[in-house]
Amino acid sequence: MTRSPISAAYAAVVTTLVLGSTAAMAQDSINIYSARHYQTDAALYAGFTKATGIAINRVDANDAGIVARLKAEGSASPADVVLLVDATRLHNAEQDNLFQSIDSPLLQQRIPAYMHSPKNTWFGFSTRARVIVYDPKRVKASEVATYEQLADPINKGRVCLRTGTHPYNLSLFGSVAVHSGDATTEKWLAGVATNLARKPQGGDTDQIKAVASGECAVAVANSYYLARLMRSDKPADQAVAKAVAIVMPNQTTTGTHMNVAGGAVAANAPHKAGAVKFLEYLASDAAQAHFADGNNEWPVVKGAPMNNPALKAMASADFKRDTASVADIGAKQVAVQQMLDRVGFQ
Ligand code: FE
Repeated sequence: MTRSPISAAYAAVVTTLVLGSTAAMAQDSINIYSARHYQTDAALYAGFTKATGIAINRVDANDAGIVARLKAEGSASPADVVLLVDATRLHNAEQDNLFQSIDSPLLQQRIPAYMHSPKNTWFGFSTRARVIVYDPKRVKASEVATYEQLADPINKGRVCLRTGTHPYNLSLFGSVAVHSGDATTEKWLAGVATNLARKPQGGDTDQIKAVASGECAVAVANSYYLARLMRSDKPADQAVAKAVAIVMPNQTTTGTHMNVAGGAVAANAPHKAGAVKFLEYLASDAAQAHFADGNNEWPVVKGAPMNNPALKAMASADFKRDTASVADIGAKQVAVQQMLDRVGFQ
């Protein structure tokens, strides 16, 4: 998922009508702008319509396309719900006043405080661990047990990453800054840049494949990309998954950084009540189980049911997560961008 220019992204917006109850009246529908790029989500939307009788009209685009469209439409926007992926993007959209605060006792109760905006605009509904993937033939698990060790001299020439400025990395680096402070984080980033095996390129799956092929020995990727390879029917994908080992980083320190996918009620939502209902549905056991079993994400609701063999193989259910406020991590991105510029990390 590379970032495309706003205009191209805007042009790429595709409107999809998800058929709900044929009896649904016009007012019994909500408009969702979604940047979740997962085909398995169709079942999620169908589940909401079945449970509530509220039909869903969906606009699918990438994050930049959604944000550009919301800004262009302004107060005339028909958007009720906005779904975005990653803390930095949720934070930016909040800063741009694209969301509104909502008062939902159910969401307050179900979603941990560190997983939603202190202003109660956006709420995180699912998480993905940002894991370290390594070649067990060349690297010991103890050499990559923490994110900090990505800068260790022992990993010189081993590390592959997608661009530092991609939101997934901005959030990971932001989490390090929240824990360690800016000066330490900048030094660490300089060390990581020194250890790179190649110029940052490609997406997370490309990094995993590069470890399997031997081009890199260590990489960082969101857990669902790995789970997807593990659960794939294609022998080539399974071979990639088998060739690499993974570490849930920082288990004895700050916990593994969890990227978040979240949702909000749009600033000018014409159907606010329905929009809140949809967000509350995303916090239900049924929806939380879908995030886990359908899209290989960890639920945010404690004790939500899940039965995903790939996630089970990756970590015990109670592995240590980083519980730093996702809002604080999102707010660190400008400082992190400046650090990346100064250390010459693309
Ligand atoms: Fe992704």
